Parts: sequence; structure tokens; C-alpha cells
Amino acid sequence: MGSSFSRTFNAGPGPSRLFIGGLHGKEGETTLQVIQDFDGGVLDGGKLCLFNFPPSPYVSTLERRYYETATGLEVLNLIKRIQPSIYLELHCYHGKNLSKLTDPGRKIQNGVPPLVELDKGVLIGSISPIIRSVFFKKYDLPFLLEMPCHPRDESFQVYQEVLNIIAASSKRSEILEKLEKFYPLQVVELKKYFVDFYDNFFILFQKSSKSALKDNLRDPDDLLGFMDNLMHKLDLKLNQIQLKQVRDAVLISLDYKPPSVN
Ligand SMILES: [Zn+2]
Repeated sequence: MGSSFSRTFNAGPGPSRLFIGGLHGKEGETTLQVIQDFDGGVLDGGKLCLFNFPPSPYVSTLERRYYETATGLEVLNLIKRIQPSIYLELHCYHGKNLSKLTDPGRKIQNGVPPLVELDKGVLIGSISPIIRSVFFKKYDLPFLLEMPCHPRDESFQVYQEVLNIIAASSKRSEILEKLEKFYPLQVVELKKYFVDFYDNFFILFQKSSKSALKDNLRDPDDLLGFMDNLMHKLDLKLNQIQLKQVRDAVLISLDYKPPSVN
């Protein structure tokens, strides 16, 4: 198919990195070029696996059913197989959605913080919390990068530069340090969202997935009720949309790590 592509670069010992474009809709038509143009020479140790997927129906990665679509299942399989500590999703957006993606009220609307604009319409942020909680460690780097679909050269260039910074680094702290030189205010925002996530969302995820496993709590409504109580008991700051996202993360983790009892 037209926008299907994969390539692996191996530069010796070092971290595993996985970059994926074309997660949904026709985004792969825009992300293909940056993936194809990638110059493996920027790698300084470690491995980088690049994938670009052909068009698929558009389902948001904030929804659990995305991870039941054909592409969503492939994404999960790649993450499980490659176990990247540096994971980058390549997305693109239509101009009319820019204000929604960067809206300070995005957490109330969608449960996730706004994406942060680096420059020329290139946006950065965390990947969907419902898989971040399950498959990534605290100091991994699970980011997504957005550019306008069919971008102007100047946006494409910024996108490529940021992607190269991420590819050429070995860990989260190194990436943030490099980005900070160009985008100091943006990195302050990203760090703020990181703290909020680990102080609230992640705590509830960890505690409720343990209980769900122990008490075999798999009914989505029971689980939600249990988590709502726990959230209040622990005085965590999460809205109802986030609460459902934590529940979805727990359900994904139950499928991913089934109880080891036979
Ligand atoms: Zn997208």
C-alpha cells in the first residue's frame, strides 16, 4: 500500500526507540515523508524502528476501542515486542482543530492537557494516558508530535528537527534538556503536565489495577465505582473523563498482563 513503510536502524548498544506514523485516518500520507527521509546517521547508539501505516478509519487514541482496531492492535504489538524507552507517535491535524488541541480547557473536555506548540504549528505532548500508564515507565519518553496535515516547508522543517533531536538522544532527560534550549517555556509546561499525571492519574491507575487483579474486578461499571471511591479516599485530582481513562487503562492492563494464576 502507498503509505506503508517500515525500517530499522541499528547503531549498537543503547536504548530501543519506536517511531510510528499513520496511526489513524489519512495521517500516514503526511507522516510518510518525514519517516522515509529520516537519516540514520543521527543515531548515537541504540536501535530505532520506524513504521508508517496506510489509511484506516479515524478513531482517537484516547478511546479504548482504538486499541481494538487493526492499526491499534499493530501499535500495541509493536510496543510489546520492541519495548521502547523512547516512543514517538507522528500525527498531523487539520487547521480547524489547532485551537481545540492547544485549548487550556482540553483537560476538562478530553481528560488530557493541551498540546504545547513548539513553533510553526508543530505541537508536542504526551501520548494517550490509557497506554502510557500500562506500557511505559515513569522516566521513559512516550511523546507525540503533531504538524499540520500537508504542511508548509517551515512546519515540516521544525517537525523534522524535533524528531531528529528525539532520535539522537538516549533518554528522557537528555531530550528535554536539548528541547529546553530552543523552547524553554514549552518545556516548563510539559514538565508541569508530567508531574500532574504522575501525582494523580498514575497513582489511581496503579492502585486500582492491583485491586482489579486481586479481586478479579473486570466489570467496567463495578470498576468505575470502585475507582471513584478510591479517588476520593486518596484525594486525587481527576475529572470524570479522566476517571474513565484510568478505567480503560486498567482494562487494557488486565488484558496485557493476565493474572499469573492458572
Ligand atoms: Zn492523530
